[in-house]
Amino acid sequence: MRYSIFSVLREAFNGQRGWRPAWREPDPKPAYDVVIVGGGGHGLATAYYLAKVHGLRNIAVVERGYLGSGNVGRNTTIVRSNYLLPGNTPFYEWSLKLWEGLEQDLNYNAMVSQRGVLNLCHTDSQRDAYARRGNAMRLCGVDAELLDREQVRALVPILDFDHARFPIKGGLLQRRGGTVRHDAVAWGYARAADQRGVDIIQNCEVTGIRIEGGRIIGVETTRGFIGAKKVGLACAGRTSQVAAMAGLRLPIESHVLQAFVSEGVKPLLHHVVTFGAGHFYVSQSDKGGLVFGGDIDGYNSYAQRGNLPTIEDVMEEGFALIPSLGRLRVLRHWGGIMDMSMDGSPIIDRTPVEGLYLNCGWCYGGFKATPASGWCFAHTIARDEPHPLNAAYRLDRFATGALIDEKGSGAQPNLH
Ligand SMILES: Cc1cc2nc3c(=O)[nH]c(=O)nc-3n(C[C@H](O)[C@H](O)[C@H](O)COP(=O)(O)OP(=O)(O)OC[C@H]3O[C@@H](n4cnc5c(N)ncnc54)[C@H](O)[C@@H]3O)c2cc1C
Repeated sequence: MRYSIFSVLREAFNGQRGWRPAWREPDPKPAYDVVIVGGGGHGLATAYYLAKVHGLRNIAVVERGYLGSGNVGRNTTIVRSNYLLPGNTPFYEWSLKLWEGLEQDLNYNAMVSQRGVLNLCHTDSQRDAYARRGNAMRLCGVDAELLDREQVRALVPILDFDHARFPIKGGLLQRRGGTVRHDAVAWGYARAADQRGVDIIQNCEVTGIRIEGGRIIGVETTRGFIGAKKVGLACAGRTSQVAAMAGLRLPIESHVLQAFVSEGVKPLLHHVVTFGAGHFYVSQSDKGGLVFGGDIDGYNSYAQRGNLPTIEDVMEEGFALIPSLGRLRVLRHWGGIMDMSMDGSPIIDRTPVEGLYLNCGWCYGGFKATPASGWCFAHTIARDEPHPLNAAYRLDRFATGALIDEKGSGAQPNLH
């Protein structure tokens, strides 16, 4: 069934009886050509592009919980491509281009909102760094505008421009950045993949990886053994655990990141705004709640909930930026398990096990990468070689030293 104004009208006159489930609930088949582990954004996008771009038909996505129960449904929904380093900029720009056409491609309303992402600067040296980043972006054909303080004030008047410690000096604006409704991304990719014959199998946890003679032959799951010629891991915060089933030890740590949403208020923030003197980012959802977050909790964990000291820290940063935030009540907060790599950049690559592929290390920024990640991972799996856009995201870069340290923090996963 195609979604359109006509289908909405037809169902309005039909008592809403014609809607069908957005995807099937199939039982696992004995074997598939490709099994993707993880029904998050990246796994579902990979399956979709494997079917759409590479013409594969016999594909399954296996998900331990319900679809979208991981980070894809827990993030703060920010998408952008304002990266500095050569390995990153073209990849994230391709992702943003795919976001721009995603709703038409998937025939699904993902509420893509290019409301602009504004990174604030609070010192002269930070403004210089933003000028450099903006120039690098423009050299790669990515939009970037360096704003002075008054231009920022015209866009976002509610900020504290004269804070004693963190006065706002200006900002780097990417107008094409913005937000996308995160659950709808999972549902849209799932529906579109299902329509191309992909089996999406929920409540099916991978508990083992079967390898014979150095080659993958399938996965053990809570719903029995599923044979596979190729297996792609896209299980975000649990990647280290699942990869260990194949004997791999990865340069990944799992950390909790929290997000918060306030009670709904009238429109007061039209952009995504990030604080430059700490780590705080905020936008306003279409329901009116302010959606915001900050740093990870700072120690390794597999818990999908966070702790109070980080909440206090995030609130302090928020108040330093927008004092009126203190008048709002926080309605909900939650946590997700982040796959933090040693250099802050992702891995999309083959592994030493033949037929086993890896997609992980997304740190704070994997949601915006979802379309390009799926696109490149599908290419890597289907063709057995990286796409030019993910050629730098190699697993062996941690041995060769060809790191992509966008933030310049060194091998400190909790600082990226
Ligand atoms: C609070 C928070 C805020 C964030 N904000 C942003 C943001 O604003 N912008 C941005 O770009 N990024 C953001 N991110 C990061 C982004 O959400 C993630 O990097 C991205 O969603 C990870 O990819 P995914 O969607 O495939 O992961 P997930 O949705 O986590 O998918 C992985 C799936 O694998 C499944 N799985 C794990 N183990 C197994 C197993 N053994 N068998 C079967 N299935 C398994 C999990 O259940 C899960 O559903 C944020 C993350 C968090 C937690």
